[in-house]
Amino acid sequence: MFSKHLTLWTILGLTFVIAVAAYGADNRTKLKPGVNIFSPKQDIEMGRQSAREAERQLQILNDQQATSYIDSLGRQLASNAPGEKYPYQFKIVNDTAINAFALPGGFVYVNRGAIEAADNEAQIAGVIAHEIGHVVLRHGTNQVSKAYLAKAPLAIVGGVLGGNAAGAVMGSLGGFGLNSLFLHYSREAETQADLMGTQILHDSGYDPKAMVDFFEKIQNASKGSTAQFFSDHPNPENRISNVQKEIVKLNGALPDPKTDSPEFQTVKDLLAGMPAPRKNGSPTTSNGRQPSDRTGRNRSGSPAPPSGGLTSYKSPDLQFRYPDNWHQDLQGGTTTFSPDGGSVNGSLAWGMVFSTFDADKHGQARISLDDAADQLLSDLQRTNANMRVTRSRQRMQIGGQDGYLTELSNTSPAGGRETDRIYTVVAPNGQVYYFVGVAPQDDFDRYALAFEDLIDTVRFK
Ligand code: ZN
Repeated sequence: MFSKHLTLWTILGLTFVIAVAAYGADNRTKLKPGVNIFSPKQDIEMGRQSAREAERQLQILNDQQATSYIDSLGRQLASNAPGEKYPYQFKIVNDTAINAFALPGGFVYVNRGAIEAADNEAQIAGVIAHEIGHVVLRHGTNQVSKAYLAKAPLAIVGGVLGGNAAGAVMGSLGGFGLNSLFLHYSREAETQADLMGTQILHDSGYDPKAMVDFFEKIQNASKGSTAQFFSDHPNPENRISNVQKEIVKLNGALPDPKTDSPEFQTVKDLLAGMPAPRKNGSPTTSNGRQPSDRTGRNRSGSPAPPSGGLTSYKSPDLQFRYPDNWHQDLQGGTTTFSPDGGSVNGSLAWGMVFSTFDADKHGQARISLDDAADQLLSDLQRTNANMRVTRSRQRMQIGGQDGYLTELSNTSPAGGRETDRIYTVVAPNGQVYYFVGVAPQDDFDRYALAFEDLIDTVRFK
């Protein structure tokens, strides 16, 4: 918000700085994460592990239009959240119960039922902003920290647990699955998430009251029967008046807030037109329903899903870790990592390819990342006529270097369409490396986290 005033400052001089700053400021409630024995980086590691387990137990909705709408809405809201920048991702769970949850480190899940129940974009943005509030305020690992410190008060004296402690701690507290410590919060935490959500909505151009409108609506409509939201997010005292007071502290409602978008209504209609989810679909931790057996999702011929255990790949230049039920196979400078049955007629359908790319440096000593990514993509598209970019490149860190992630769609050797994720990075020695994660579209969500884990562990020597 201050960037608008920067030119003013330089034109008008410092005399006006105080006046301008006072005009732009508000009296928003200052919210900070509570006690925590983990680092924000460990939030991401624990969240990813937990997300992987959760996705084994839940039915993730595989509809590209709906998912990319929710993901981009979520990312846009998260970009207005304060504090640590987490690698947010937003997915839809194929469950008609009105609910949503967030795992530490930014893994957010919105039930199909919540989207279908919302009247407009602002209301679903309210639910998502509330979940982002839990992430920013680190409520999941705060609860784990409190539970652990209660059990082992002398285990740690101040500071942060190091190394592999997260796994040991979670092991002693019920594991990484849909652990209720990550999902069921106190009323105090709910109030904080409401206030943070209010601030995020306001800063994103929405009327924050849409969040409480939605909570009121689902409370009145169902008296809690399908609104599981309230068993995972217990209704705090004075929820509505707290949000209204915060809006006043934010200098009141925006003059012309965003309420709805045609995209939201399209996605809502799309979901309403889909068949009902399978009955044994989604578990919750709060009411004792058991997680479904994920083997029901396997279509015939699909290989075993990526293992949670990782094993190491090491070359003279770099190393990384990959699922320990994948085999590596080197052919002509390209190494393939895939499960048994991951290839169909000699073409990779499930797994990851890793290789170097000899880019044209145009006489320069070192190629730029942009140039390398452009050349690689056009090379791949030349040899794969059906390949289409579905998500343009995003910058990310790979082994401490700037890299790009691009998402594509292609025909799958297993039939139907596949999703491909291309990760490109220029190593410190100037060599261009790329990784391509491949899985059929309706299986992709089960592979995405394995691809992310692999990329996350890349280290250059
Ligand atoms: Zn909540």
